[in-house]
Amino acid sequence: MNKAFCKEPDNSLPPRCPKCGNDGVEVSAHTVYAHVKKGLLDAIGEPAYWCASDTCEIAYFDAYERTIGIVDAHGLYWPKDQNNPLCSCHGLTIDDIDSDLADGVPTRVRAVVQQAAQPTAICSSTSADGRSCVARVQRCYMRRRAEMGK
Ligand SMILES: [Zn+2]
Repeated sequence: MNKAFCKEPDNSLPPRCPKCGNDGVEVSAHTVYAHVKKGLLDAIGEPAYWCASDTCEIAYFDAYERTIGIVDAHGLYWPKDQNNPLCSCHGLTIDDIDSDLADGVPTRVRAVVQQAAQPTAICSSTSADGRSCVARVQRCYMRRRAEMGK
């Protein structure tokens, strides 16, 4: 049987960022509204996706490869925006992570993880990817620790 003939587009896979090819993270219209310049809200359709690549200049895109660049978005987290905290919701920065590593005790990271578990946590509505910052904070902590050879 002809393999190409059998091949159908896999709709279960998220579309990839038109710029860097990274898998998109589906976000709600609410998240896009909170992070995109008001005049550009119609620039992409639903569902919208977040490009989680650290270095890519695209913030959001849709299935038709229409994009919103970092320059037209705000409240993005580090390192997508170098001037912003890693977790905007609790204000945890990359410097806080380095301080934790210098202390040898992850006091600041633990505080964010605890706060994020509270019912009042706002990560999912405040974070640019519409998700809790915990996994991202922990990943960053582990990566930083590895980089420092600890
Ligand atoms: Zn990208």
